[in-house]
Amino acid sequence: MALYNTLTREVERVDPILPGEVSLYTCGPTVYNYAHIGNLRTFLFQDLLKRTLQGLGYRVRHCMNITDVEDKIIRDSQQGLPPDADNPARHAAMEALTARYTAAFFEDLESVAIPREGFTFLPRATAYIPQMVSLIQRLEARGLAYAREGSVYFRIQGFPEYGRLARLDREGMLAGASVDADEYDRDSVQDFVLWKAARPGEPWWESPWGAGRPGWHIECSAMGLELLGERIDIHSGGVDLVFPHHENEIAQSEGCIGHPWVRCWVHGEFLLVEGQKMSKSLGNFFTLRDLVERGHDPLAFRYAILSNHYRKLLNFSMEGLRGAKAALDRIRAFRRRMEGNGESSGDGAWKEALDPLGRLAQARQAFWDALADDLNTPEALASLFTLVTDLNAQDDRLPLTREERDRVLAFLEEADGVFACWPADASVEDLEVAALVESRRAAKGARNWAEADRIREQLRARGIILEDRKDGSTAWHRA
Ligand SMILES: [Zn+2]
Repeated sequence: MALYNTLTREVERVDPILPGEVSLYTCGPTVYNYAHIGNLRTFLFQDLLKRTLQGLGYRVRHCMNITDVEDKIIRDSQQGLPPDADNPARHAAMEALTARYTAAFFEDLESVAIPREGFTFLPRATAYIPQMVSLIQRLEARGLAYAREGSVYFRIQGFPEYGRLARLDREGMLAGASVDADEYDRDSVQDFVLWKAARPGEPWWESPWGAGRPGWHIECSAMGLELLGERIDIHSGGVDLVFPHHENEIAQSEGCIGHPWVRCWVHGEFLLVEGQKMSKSLGNFFTLRDLVERGHDPLAFRYAILSNHYRKLLNFSMEGLRGAKAALDRIRAFRRRMEGNGESSGDGAWKEALDPLGRLAQARQAFWDALADDLNTPEALASLFTLVTDLNAQDDRLPLTREERDRVLAFLEEADGVFACWPADASVEDLEVAALVESRRAAKGARNWAEADRIREQLRARGIILEDRKDGSTAWHRA
């Protein structure tokens, strides 16, 4: 398995610290709202990474944190509380907000086939406050942190490697200036906050520096070190986390343990919607729930995301989502066809020429080679579709044997272990529709327009509307 390491800017072989086992830390959600589809792209790519490693035979220890204390959470949860509310009431308000959106987050993950059971650890930041405090104390002892007015800051001048991940210009770093916000941009390369003194109207915890709360960055260092240890194989997030979040995680963790922490940093690219950055004011801001309300299949969304390479900017569109559904239906229909027995109609010589099992072995090899090469999903899917096309054509002429069909089904199942888009238990009705759409496609290919129209009418009678697309595929939806 090879992955693009942001630290070295090169595709590198993954060589796990423990043979056969990969430790993976992924930065989880900040639970103050529903995840939008850009957030979900990151979680989907990390799921793909985990499933690919597992498909290649590794055991994966996966830790994803839940950020349940942070600037935006406090802002949103404390609105509406009376100014004299006490600390327990402030904590209760924060927990009510984060519990609600944590539950919504896992519902969303579930509907795009990211099961909760797939994670080894799902720590909530508020359960690790003592570990954060002790980490900050160790940084203080090493001269890498200093307290000021009840807050504690990381001294970046004391850590010569600061800026390596994000390739920052150390010349431009401001000695002694500090920043309190959890999120800031590249223009503010400054000492960042590890512990924030409590301000009026905020929930707080006791600490050696007085009442306060952790900064966002220290949360991941504390949970990662506690649960996965001082050497981690892969750490991942969206590209927006490279600076400052991951840069700061490295400074905190390595500043404390005194040696490299993470071998490979892997980052997923952004998502645009209809060519523009997603924003509520542009009306192109979507959560998964918005898509489902418009009648889209969450697994088609999963497919739309995963069929693009994780390091390429993805331009999401409703048109693209319908295209993803059509592509997915072809695989689902093929699966259904292989489950059946086929009917003989032709010429046996063709079968020898094609060699279904040879073609299958080729496709399977190409599929895994592509995924092992920095998660090249477009190429992996291309090998799968070549197989679908070839074996559909073959099966038209002379049906595959039961054994051949079972071997093909076994590969589809194996491939679905990674893509999780064409499960064996997909709704029977969806599979029937997909199969009819595929028959109509074959009829059109044979210029049998009467048959194609008949199938369209048959589906219309069942409330299924077909939409032929420019690329020759067909999307469908319920009326
Ligand atoms: Zn993080």
